[in-house]
Amino acid sequence: MQVVSVQEEVPTRMHELSIAYSLVRVATEAVQEAQISQVSAVHLRLGVLSGVVKESLLFSYDIATENTPLAGSQLIIEELPIIIFCPTCNAEQTLPGIQSFRCPVCGQPSAQIVQGKELQIVSLEVADAAAFA
Ligand SMILES: [Zn+2]
Repeated sequence: MQVVSVQEEVPTRMHELSIAYSLVRVATEAVQEAQISQVSAVHLRLGVLSGVVKESLLFSYDIATENTPLAGSQLIIEELPIIIFCPTCNAEQTLPGIQSFRCPVCGQPSAQIVQGKELQIVSLEVADAAAFA
């Protein structure tokens, strides 16, 4: 059982590590455009359907930021719940989890996902000011 759990963990980390490298690449471009030398934090919006494990991404971030303008900065993740559009209620509804795609109000299933797949850099935080990415 322990061997199996290790084998599952490695590709997940690899996955998050490659995402972390992409994230750092995008953020570094934004840093250069804004002509910032030192970033203290990167704010990220992460949908629960993005398939990214928050803890693994945080772990990978420290590795991916080495020798970049983002080295030593903090990754601040805002987790976004799933929001579906329910045609019956004619409204957007927030789901309590990822197990069911039924409207929590009327119980109708819906495939219209409004939010939940995000993996988006929102802003970069500089020492004492914030610059929009
Ligand atoms: Zn509904």
